[in-house]
Amino acid sequence: MIEYFFPPRCALCNAILKAGVAIYICEKCAGEIGYYKNSVTPLNLPVGIQNYCDGILCVGRYSDSLKEALRRFKFSNKPSYYRTFGRLLALKVENTEQKVRFDIIVPVPLYKSKEKTRGYNQAELMAGQVSKILNVPCEKRLLNKTFETKSQSILKKNERLLNLQDAFVAINQRMIVNKNILLIDDILTTGSTVNQCCKALKEAGAGKVIAGVVATTRNY
Ligand SMILES: [Zn+2]
Repeated sequence: MIEYFFPPRCALCNAILKAGVAIYICEKCAGEIGYYKNSVTPLNLPVGIQNYCDGILCVGRYSDSLKEALRRFKFSNKPSYYRTFGRLLALKVENTEQKVRFDIIVPVPLYKSKEKTRGYNQAELMAGQVSKILNVPCEKRLLNKTFETKSQSILKKNERLLNLQDAFVAINQRMIVNKNILLIDDILTTGSTVNQCCKALKEAGAGKVIAGVVATTRNY
């Protein structure tokens, strides 16, 4: 009934979709996303930066309509997009060549006051959806962002890598030890956020930590 009055729309171009579709992206837009290959790829970091991440899984390139949709998801109060992005991420995990068995899913946290202003943590919403689809528990309280960092987007690359030094701490070590973790975030740029989260998890005893992101500005 609800779908009759508010039919699902494509998250990328707003076209009306058939009721009951699982992913809110129309066929045309789905064909235009710059998809990445279905494999875990290394998180390349500049020389001298220690890498704590066992690899990344990424849906597609951060450009065109995917970029616009992610911007709306984050900045224009479109939290409902988590269903579509979560499903794209879950598909990526399912279709990945290396079959990694994840024990838990952990979203990249926002600093408390930031989450309050935005009203939601986009990574947490997606992680919940991925958890439902893959049937792997989502643990939202294992990582804390301990201080607010300068907005990554206004900093130069080198500043960004330093800006996040030790901004994250793992809280419940007992639940982390020896666990293979899928860390969820929306966008990967320098990789410093992901790397710092991996660092906190690894120092708490995590097994493998692989980051699943919707889009990246990088070439892989
Ligand atoms: Zn579309």
